[in-house]
Amino acid sequence: MAKISVAIAGAGLSGLCLAHSLLRTGFDVQVYERDPAPHARRQGYRITVDGYGLAALQRCLPPHLFKLFLATTSPTDETGYFRVTNHQLGEIFRLTFKGDPSGNDLRTPRQADRQTLRAIMLEGLQDKVHFGKEAVRAETASDGATLHFADGSYIQASVIVCADGVNSALRKQLLPDCEPEDTNSWGIYGRTLLVQNGRSLVPDRLKTSGVFAMGPSSRGFFFTTMRFREAPQTAFSRFGVDRIPPITDDYVMWGIVLPKEQSPKHQGKWSNEMLLRFAQDITRDFHPVLQSFVDRADVDSTMAVKLKAAKEPSTWPVSRVTFMGDAVHVMPPTGSHGGNTALRDAALLAEKLEAAVIQGEALEKAIGSYQEEMSHYAFREVKSAKAMLKRFTIKNPIIGWVMMRAIPRIRSITNKPLTSE
Ligand SMILES: Cc1cc2nc3c(=O)[nH]c(=O)nc-3n(C[C@H](O)[C@H](O)[C@H](O)COP(=O)(O)OP(=O)(O)OC[C@H]3O[C@@H](n4cnc5c(N)ncnc54)[C@H](O)[C@@H]3O)c2cc1C
Repeated sequence: MAKISVAIAGAGLSGLCLAHSLLRTGFDVQVYERDPAPHARRQGYRITVDGYGLAALQRCLPPHLFKLFLATTSPTDETGYFRVTNHQLGEIFRLTFKGDPSGNDLRTPRQADRQTLRAIMLEGLQDKVHFGKEAVRAETASDGATLHFADGSYIQASVIVCADGVNSALRKQLLPDCEPEDTNSWGIYGRTLLVQNGRSLVPDRLKTSGVFAMGPSSRGFFFTTMRFREAPQTAFSRFGVDRIPPITDDYVMWGIVLPKEQSPKHQGKWSNEMLLRFAQDITRDFHPVLQSFVDRADVDSTMAVKLKAAKEPSTWPVSRVTFMGDAVHVMPPTGSHGGNTALRDAALLAEKLEAAVIQGEALEKAIGSYQEEMSHYAFREVKSAKAMLKRFTIKNPIIGWVMMRAIPRIRSITNKPLTSE
């Protein structure tokens, strides 16, 4: 295979996934990351990886890293649930997901710690990922493209892939009409050690549930548990990965969704302590179990995010520069599809570029076909995530009363409370 060079801006989920696949098939790949070091920012939340995400990781990662990834995901042996409740954990409805005791069925979604996954994906790319390189501009030409950095340097490659996340500088330059729109909602996220003083903070009946509790004033509280199938330190050494895993203990990931007008003013200047105190104040109306997650949270892992939704490009010219993941199709976290779609993009783009080289076809043809196919599934996910966010932040008082009072009361006649042992 002729050496084709690919420069990727952004060493996040999609950038690293693509890099692995292209390297394995003989491309010359370099990844440029703005952060000064691998774990410069705490991004220690868990993500639900679904069939698409699992298929992409299986396709792109070297087999031993994919096995290591599976070993560090949550167990799938028990039946899982997604429950929608009122703020006092009175159930409104639930979805049931069949368990898979073997853990081998890659259609079964599972929880993964994002930081652990990223550490696994950095393995083997030590000399390919360049930290402290903030991409600011890309230029395309007929036979390649140039990527410019904030430090004044630049590189040239056959193809440039912009995987620089939700605030993509390259999107602002190259797709200026598709800056994401504000959903008028904010998320405050945190992480809390699952077992404290020898006791699990999550009641037994909710151990395998993701819960979204609809609260007063259009606020919502989400939580789920990240339990490692195998202790990350044991799994890393079993697979010969000589790194200290970034996260070693099981935890609860929680998030509060709130309307923009209730969000903290001048939040950019807030310390994590201030943000966590704010989160404690606005969850006082919620069930004590939910309050305890915020009260006992890890201060450093608390973060606030403006929830945005991408706009589909009206025209997306095909050139030697293309986009993947949140940089082009960010979506609210409702539905858990942002990362899975980003991983799916990486696998699809890898497949198209690899096939073009093998068949001697123009790279533009591969990129055009990728952009068309990706737009189709990705913007469908953006639309459904936006619709789901709207459904969970009810503004109509009558619907609110039915959902948050009437249904949970009727269901409580026949069902045991979710917090009972
Ligand atoms: C709390 C939370 C929970 C979530 N849960 C889920 C879930 O359950 N399931 C799911 O599918 N998704 C989930 N997501 C969404 C998911 O994390 C993102 O969609 C996913 O990380 C996007 O991957 P990406 O590769 O596009 O971007 P990212 O993973 O964000 O990576 C972008 C990278 O680019 C770097 N960068 C930024 N600017 C530049 C620049 N100018 N030059 C160079 N590098 C740059 C960044 O530092 C970063 O490393 C969640 C998100 C949050 C915040």
